[in-house]
Amino acid sequence: QHELVWFRNDLRTIDNPALYHACQSTQPVIAIYIATPQQWHQHDDAAVKLDFWHRNLVQLEKELAELNIELHFFQHDNYQQIPDLIATICQQWAVNQVHVNAELAVNESQRDANVIERCQDIGVAYQEHHDQLLLPPASIRTKTGTPYKVFTAFSTQARQRLATPPSLYPVPNPCKKISDNATKRLSGQCQFADIHWPTVSKKIQTFWPAGQQEALTRLTEFCQQPIQHYKTDRDTPSLAGTSRLSPYLASGILSAAQCWHATLHCEMSDGVHIWQNELLWREFYKHTLIDFPQVSKHKPLKLQTEQIEWRHDEEQLVAWQDGKTGIPIVDAAMRQLLTRGWMHNRLRMIVAMFLTKHLLIDWRLGERWFMQHLIDGDLSANNGGWQWCASTGSDSVPYFRIFNPVTQSQRFDPKGIFIRHYLPELAHLSDKDIHLPSAKNRPENYPSPIVDLKRGRLRALSAFKGV
Ligand code: FAD
Repeated sequence: QHELVWFRNDLRTIDNPALYHACQSTQPVIAIYIATPQQWHQHDDAAVKLDFWHRNLVQLEKELAELNIELHFFQHDNYQQIPDLIATICQQWAVNQVHVNAELAVNESQRDANVIERCQDIGVAYQEHHDQLLLPPASIRTKTGTPYKVFTAFSTQARQRLATPPSLYPVPNPCKKISDNATKRLSGQCQFADIHWPTVSKKIQTFWPAGQQEALTRLTEFCQQPIQHYKTDRDTPSLAGTSRLSPYLASGILSAAQCWHATLHCEMSDGVHIWQNELLWREFYKHTLIDFPQVSKHKPLKLQTEQIEWRHDEEQLVAWQDGKTGIPIVDAAMRQLLTRGWMHNRLRMIVAMFLTKHLLIDWRLGERWFMQHLIDGDLSANNGGWQWCASTGSDSVPYFRIFNPVTQSQRFDPKGIFIRHYLPELAHLSDKDIHLPSAKNRPENYPSPIVDLKRGRLRALSAFKGV
């Protein structure tokens, strides 16, 4: 008899409740990972993110081997085949109990509901844990028992609840060794090398080294000093003022609980408080994903915003995607996304607002482009961020508060350090001119602005006013 751990978005051995509970048994433990390339494609998972999973799985396999746990790989096109696959694994490998950490989006919840049903049919127990959240689903509620739609009220209650911090699970002790031939080869099973992982540049891989130890080192280093300056540094894209832990959190190489606990060991300051708030924004959007399933279905939270008449302008959309809008801060940000697979939060807000307001292009097209290129692409945070900027979310920026990208650039990149890095063609311009080069000093290889910011703003105001 065996215990089975099914790894999904939780590629770590430290603070992994599913793994920890499986290892509490006296039986040997087997681990599986199921690659679903067609599903990844449908979900717009970026090549950089898939490559990151690949590299983290290599690490995980080694770490599990130290616990006497073999990691087996399977490949199936999509989720439909998974309930039968799990049933076959359980029957062929004599599994007592399946252990997973919950995934929260609609497709994954449906897949898991089907797996639970199949497990019940064959008499195998199924244990689900919550590792992505600091607080259990549906535990933060208004007085009338409804989910919060406003972040401040949500975070006040969440902080009260977090006075008792979430449990942390240590790395389990090595399990009983599995006997030879206990895991005979099954259909759909593959070698790790058979999975078609995309290839990405070595440069991107160097920015984002794999492994939970790397994530923990980053967390520790961030909490030693930079967190204390987070209040002032977090909005300056040319500084490493934020933790850059998002890829690790999004793929479950690190848990939110580990981050929360790390803050409890810091000397309390505004910086620590604000960073905790970011973890709570993440939490808020995850709870929103569970409480308002339309988030997984490309629907706005404010349903009346479905009436907005978005513009269809393929040329401007492509200019935005390629970082060729003629607005330097927008272009530099979009090139950061293309070359690093990541973008600074302040810049995400600037480019998202530029697309949805000045260009009046549907937020869902921006959301999709981000998913297709972000190493930290995460349905709830990405959707939340886009709906915030597009003023279609429950607690989003009022539609009339439109960031002017040039003013933002002057404020958050006053010397143009960030712009110069990503747009070397503008590097020779003065600190004043770099934010919006005039026709006279604009180099030939840099486009003129694709939109008049003033007119774009007025057009957005009138489109939103109507709804
Ligand atoms: P830090 O500032 O160090 O924050 C720590 C952690 O808190 C982050 O790693 C992240 O997990 C979480 N966090 C911080 N800010 C937010 C936020 N506003 N919403 C939710 N969680 C937050 N974040 C993603 O992880 N994946 C996405 O796909 C994503 N898409 C976004 C799209 C838009 C349009 C916007 C405006 C924001 C998006 N964010 C997304 C949130 C935020 O930009 C990133 O989490 C942050 O830039 C990551 O950098 P960091 O790890 O240095 O963050």
